Amino acid sequence: MTVSHKKSQLCPNCRGLISRNESICPYCGLKNPGSWWKNSGLLRLFLDPELFLNGLIGLNVALFVVSLIMIPGGMGMGMSPFGFLSPDNRSLLLLGATGTMPIETLHRWWSLVSASYLHGSLLHLIFNLIALRQLAPLIIQEYGLARMFSIYTLGGIGGFLLSYLAGVPFTIGASAAVCALIGAALYYGKSRGGSYGRQVFQQIGGWAIGIFVFGLLVPGINNWAHGGGMAAGILCGLLMGYQENRREMLSHRLFGVACVVGTILILLWALASAVIYRFF
Ligand SMILES: [Zn+2]
Repeated sequence: MTVSHKKSQLCPNCRGLISRNESICPYCGLKNPGSWWKNSGLLRLFLDPELFLNGLIGLNVALFVVSLIMIPGGMGMGMSPFGFLSPDNRSLLLLGATGTMPIETLHRWWSLVSASYLHGSLLHLIFNLIALRQLAPLIIQEYGLARMFSIYTLGGIGGFLLSYLAGVPFTIGASAAVCALIGAALYYGKSRGGSYGRQVFQQIGGWAIGIFVFGLLVPGINNWAHGGGMAAGILCGLLMGYQENRREMLSHRLFGVACVVGTILILLWALASAVIYRFF
């Protein structure tokens, strides 16, 4: 019993029980299912959705605190509740805000990623994190955690790329990434159909309409980033598929790991360069 257990493993692609020295998985055809990198610890990043989501929220809160203390001054009560606890714009620029200004004058293309982790006020942070907390479980359920984070990352990049092309000079916030989750949910609802699909489409469609109405009424909202994020989310849903039509595979998990590693490296780079510019 123990001997056969030691010689068997789960296929890293389809999770079928296979022999450790199999050269091709008999269930899904994956080559060298025993190779170390296909079984590496990084792929375990996506085993605990609740922990992952709390980590993502914690990362946003931590960067918000850093942006407040990097250049103190925005810590007091502003003119409106929207301005309460607003980081200094110079601090946001140092930490990786995006737009035509950082990209064209500072050549910070990586800010297309980092800007999703910065927020303009306490209320901005709370709005985005509540939306993330509400939407992410549905996307994790229907797409799996690896694809959820890929959609989130690509949606932020897509939204800020569109807003850059539209000439927005300076912008930040998780809402482009959150809008990508909305886009992916809309695509899922429409593509799946049936009474559940229709229900998802209608409920999330209400969110989408609410965000656009809010964006038209409240000045200073980056509607290009919202629209671009949503479009990117729909495109991701179409290209990557969801659990019911394409179960999570090794390729989805590898792409998700690339998004996590890329994001962390960019945020560390942003943080290190901000500290160097600010204090040295
Ligand atoms: Zn397999």
